Amino acid sequence: MLRFDEIVFGPIFSRRLGSSLGVNLLPSKGKLCNFDCVYCECGWNKDGRGDNVFPELSDVEAALEEKLSKAADEGVRIDSVTFSGNGEPTMHPDFAKVIDITLRLRDRYFPEAKVSVLSNATLIGRKDVMDALMRVDNPILKIDASSDELIGKINKPAGSYRLSEVVENLRKFEGGFVLQTMFLRSPEFDTASPEALKGWIEIVKELKPREIMVYTIDRETPDKSLSKYTVEEMHEFVRPLIDEGYNIQIRG
Ligand code: SF4
Repeated sequence: MLRFDEIVFGPIFSRRLGSSLGVNLLPSKGKLCNFDCVYCECGWNKDGRGDNVFPELSDVEAALEEKLSKAADEGVRIDSVTFSGNGEPTMHPDFAKVIDITLRLRDRYFPEAKVSVLSNATLIGRKDVMDALMRVDNPILKIDASSDELIGKINKPAGSYRLSEVVENLRKFEGGFVLQTMFLRSPEFDTASPEALKGWIEIVKELKPREIMVYTIDRETPDKSLSKYTVEEMHEFVRPLIDEGYNIQIRG
């Protein structure tokens, strides 16, 4: 399984974000997330229990400054500073402060680079998290299915999760975010069944994200019963949205 033991890693090449410097705000030992997605590249939460120690704000700042200043000195290209790593980045208690520091360092060393955050959007009901996500260039926010029941099967949220609340909060972005959706199926569910697809398309039309990234399984997954979709199949799923002019990236 894919886990990161450094706070700042890379840059690694990403088809969507270019040369991407990764930031892992989660504990370096193990995985920490309030979802437990059947496809998570970091594995199941139960297999990744670590020390639950988040990196200190000062350590994040020092690691970022060191990497960015070195990359700038050496002429290394950085297109995006990207928050992902071993779980859900907005769970870091100082997430909003980290974003402010990152934006300041980005402006100093790589003013052309974007700041991107990959998040499951569960904590956007918190004002500090929402405001921070609104300050970054690319808030890349996940909705994999159109009902709480299906989300329960795919994302396995910890605690209470209500899709209607997340959608309500996402409306505040007024389309200024990137929606990320995984298409997959198993003997138990299919995120592209006619009913699931219809509900998902309704959510998209309600939120009107400026960009949509749809993708499917790429690496090893904790649930071994999953099947992926082809690019051609996913193209068919989103065709009604493409026809309406939505900006959609499809990654097989
Ligand atoms: S939200 Fe992301 S980090 Fe969390 S379980 Fe799902 S894929 Fe893994």
